[in-house]
Amino acid sequence: MALMSGPRSIMKLALASSPASVESARKQPAIQVSNLSIVFDTNRGQTIAVDRVSFDVAPGEFVCIVGPSGCGKSTVLNTIAGLEVPFEGDILVEGSRVYSPRPDVGMVFQQPHLFPWKSVRKNIAHGPRMLGKSTTEANAIADDLIAMIGLKRFADAYPNTLSGGMQQRVAIARALANQPRVLLMDEPFGALDAQTRAVMQDNLLELRDRIKATIVFVTHDIDEAIVLADRVLIMSAGPGRILREVAVKLPRPRSSAVMVEPTYLSLKKDCLDVIRAEGLRAFNQSDAS
Ligand code: ADP
Ligand code: MG
Repeated sequence: MALMSGPRSIMKLALASSPASVESARKQPAIQVSNLSIVFDTNRGQTIAVDRVSFDVAPGEFVCIVGPSGCGKSTVLNTIAGLEVPFEGDILVEGSRVYSPRPDVGMVFQQPHLFPWKSVRKNIAHGPRMLGKSTTEANAIADDLIAMIGLKRFADAYPNTLSGGMQQRVAIARALANQPRVLLMDEPFGALDAQTRAVMQDNLLELRDRIKATIVFVTHDIDEAIVLADRVLIMSAGPGRILREVAVKLPRPRSSAVMVEPTYLSLKKDCLDVIRAEGLRAFNQSDAS
């Protein structure tokens, strides 16, 4: 069953670009992270969470960031979202500096964080309403997205009546309702069981082929990263640095069925070698300290 087999009318939600903006988008990355360091003040002094991280993401590219718990993945993503201020370095989204959250950057977290008192439709329509759309316009946007995530029957349902996977689909639709050029996803399937997670990965791949947004997706699951991404950035144990970039040259459209292909297995081996070496280094370091 294709859960996101909604009407093609959703294409109007795709990122509309004039020829001129397409030309300029080609010239500049959608996201530029330059020499980013984040330091937190804690009661044990200063903690370096992220250490001189640099990477670019091309328009429409799907980049996954993997790394062990606490390595700074969420901090990097929050900084791109404007929820964290760089200690050092710079972040440009679509060529402009990020100071605070902005509507062209959508974010999905591990927990759906839906408004429990609003229906599915109202949750999704909330963003467009805040941006000044009429109720009718906002509901039309929501209904297109509801069709796309396969929850037409649940448009008037409240979040607490939905499964975890359904709630997360609503959270993704809500992030897409403002037609973001960039979608940031922080372990969005991390709280779901393995079966639901695989379905959600396939749904996201299908969705991504329709919306053409630039996506940065954080996970600690290397399989999830390779199945989804055009490029995987592997981070070190904290303080987080980028250890390796792995280009995933698996054909699209893609699904989780790709996990048995020889190219996939060889890519996974490359990633696991880097992760294993880093795990060993971090273990030895913690043992020595
Ligand atoms: P990840 O998402 O990779 O698990 P985080 O980005 O959440 O890692 O955290 C990176 C490091 O920064 C951790 O050591 C964490 O304890 C620390 N950290 C994150 N947010 C804060 C904060 N607001 N104050 C102090 N330390 C923080
Ligand atoms: Mg995190």
